[in-house]
Amino acid sequence: MIVFDLQCENGHTFEGWFQDSSAYEEQRQKKLIACPVCSSTRVVKLPSAFAIKNQPTAAEAPQQPPAAINLERFGRHLAEFVEKNFDNVGPDFAKEALKIHYGVSEPRNIRGVSTPQEEETLRQEGIQFFKLPLPSSSSSDSDA
Ligand SMILES: [Zn+2]
Repeated sequence: MIVFDLQCENGHTFEGWFQDSSAYEEQRQKKLIACPVCSSTRVVKLPSAFAIKNQPTAAEAPQQPPAAINLERFGRHLAEFVEKNFDNVGPDFAKEALKIHYGVSEPRNIRGVSTPQEEETLRQEGIQFFKLPLPSSSSSDSDA
């Protein structure tokens, strides 16, 4: 099971449980995911928090301490997750985030690069974003 923090177009946040991320996509496209507050089916996944929870089996003792997180592995998974689930808009990140914020673009998860000035603008506009050190991909980002 995977848990996503979701947000509807009216800014309500809620939690959604899915088999995996493709199940989330499918349900979202079929408009099966509705905000519990306003019933809007225009929901987006909040990028900042996600977790994978195992369904507890009845036989297991519920009071086990959480296993130590392997940060390196977690980081790699997170990077892969972002790579797969976020649109890479490159240097247009701030522009695109603003468009989404004002409803010009379809709400979606995006990733890209931004300048400190752009980040300041985003902060002033109240747009949530987070920075993540990603392993540099060797593919095609060599332009300066
Ligand atoms: Zn709502």
